[in-house]
Amino acid sequence: IGEPSDQWKEYQGAPTGTDIECKGWRQEAALRMLNNNLDPEVGEDPENLVVYGGTGRAARSWDAYDAILSELRELGDTETLLVQSGKPVGRFDTHKKAPRVLIANSNLVGKWDNWEHFHELEAEGKIMYGQMTAGSWAYIGTQGIIQGTYETLAELARQEYDGDLAGKIVVTGGLGGMGGAQPLAVTMNHGICIAAEIDEERIDRRIETGYCQEKVQDLSEAIRRAEDAADRGEEYSVGVPMNSADMLEAMLERDFVPDVITDQTSSHDVLEGYYPSGYTVEEADRLRERNPEKYREESLDTMERHVDAILEHQNRGAIAFEYGNNIRGQIKEHRGRDDAFDFPGFVPAYVRQMFCRGQGPFRWAALSGDPEDIYRTDEAIRELFPEKESLLRWIDLAQEQVQFQGLPSRVCWLGYNTNDEGLTERARFALRINDLVADGEIEAPIVVTRDHLDAGSVASPNRETEAMKDGTDAVADWPILNALLNCAAGADIVSVHDGGGVGIGNALHTNNHVVLDGSDLAAEKAERVFTTDPGMGVVRHVDAGYEDAIDQADSSDVPIPMRDR
Ligand code: NAD
Repeated sequence: IGEPSDQWKEYQGAPTGTDIECKGWRQEAALRMLNNNLDPEVGEDPENLVVYGGTGRAARSWDAYDAILSELRELGDTETLLVQSGKPVGRFDTHKKAPRVLIANSNLVGKWDNWEHFHELEAEGKIMYGQMTAGSWAYIGTQGIIQGTYETLAELARQEYDGDLAGKIVVTGGLGGMGGAQPLAVTMNHGICIAAEIDEERIDRRIETGYCQEKVQDLSEAIRRAEDAADRGEEYSVGVPMNSADMLEAMLERDFVPDVITDQTSSHDVLEGYYPSGYTVEEADRLRERNPEKYREESLDTMERHVDAILEHQNRGAIAFEYGNNIRGQIKEHRGRDDAFDFPGFVPAYVRQMFCRGQGPFRWAALSGDPEDIYRTDEAIRELFPEKESLLRWIDLAQEQVQFQGLPSRVCWLGYNTNDEGLTERARFALRINDLVADGEIEAPIVVTRDHLDAGSVASPNRETEAMKDGTDAVADWPILNALLNCAAGADIVSVHDGGGVGIGNALHTNNHVVLDGSDLAAEKAERVFTTDPGMGVVRHVDAGYEDAIDQADSSDVPIPMRDR
């Protein structure tokens, strides 16, 4: 990837304020979001262009990063830039309502769609792993996942424990870019979290940013403190610097079984994400360089023990679920263990009912860099959705407990529900923000984007589309239609990726950005994109036969061809 670019060193994050270096705010938004992904406060390892999720990168090389910036500065208001796996490859005249940037990352043709072929191409500098929001310039730090993690745990608490995790101990692993949200999401639900993390610096980072309360070296001591907090009904979170598989086995030996067990180590990537037992981070990094084959085998050995320990905890009464890192898929594929799937994924267990209604995580960033702009958007949520109690609780909690990283941003889950004028929740929000920008109540444009994990934007059989009612888990027409529809509706950036979350060959997914600059054009695009995009979630789940989706389509007048025939 070369040496870090001088421009990146100068930026140290997204440029802010109301002066722009590009020819328009749409291009400027792309430039700022790319740099925001690589802000040292936001990305996990920006010197290596790594944003999060193992090796999820924002650009293929430092030369490609410099070239993307030059292209964005020159890009006209009627042009579209093409980015292929983190490298700019073309620029065409299109028209002003078309996307300004189109991105495709990590996609391979079916038969070749695997890590082995990907790594060969990556070593030759021909492809890049874009994860989900890394390569599409929509990552906003650990704050981006916090509400999804909070909502997932809240749903678990509703299903299992009267809506609260008070007195319940949640055990997990991995305090990286996304996984780091877990301790705070648990304490926001009033519970207790013990998290194993092999890289002590990651624990320190989560403590510094308020995501985790403390670090304890000794596991028995961590368990004792967690049990004391549970007895007192107090919120508590602790990071333990050790291997996750070792920790779960040690808990079994001590006859300690938590209430809930999950994991967010980067097990989707055997070689560059997950750490095998018996090594420090530095030792494992050396082994990977020296002998990648041995690393792979030992990584899988540890992962198999990890899955066995989760299953044993489940046998002994813990509620177990996979948190989207494909640890079950790895053990089934590489070790032939079908029983790895004896514990469920988080989507069928806790999220699908929201997807049926077009609900998904939707985020926005203030391009001004001014936190006041985000507080004004929080107010807009309160004004627009006074009846949504849990959403309002989320906004209060986020204001109190979630520190901004990089550009001030917010995330929340809104869906398709329409009002009397036929406007969806997401469209109403976006139009209101656009008005606030036009009126000068918000200083500079707001860019609205979302995770690839959304209602109608992803096919991922071990995660978002696990156990679909009609067996269409692996049908990838849906995300492709979603990206095409986003272009037709006029999103400003549209991207299509392979392999986010669960690894190359296991998923296809898309995302979009719309820049709300206060113009009529922005309003027109926003209304269309924020209707069609969540609408895809409704349509996809109606097609699969989900009652909730059919109910949503009926109540919001979503036309579904062939339904009544
Ligand atoms: P990351 O690479 O930033 O962090 C992973 C962390 O796991 C690192 O800090 C690493 O040191 C630690 N780790 C790896 N192996 C370990 C082991 N055996 N024991 C203890 N610690 C270990 O990744 P991330 O962005 O935090 O994502 C983590 C995983 O969760 C990924 O697989 C990602 O795809 C998945 N994920 C799922 C969702 C979701 O919504 N379901 C969201 C985000 C991430």
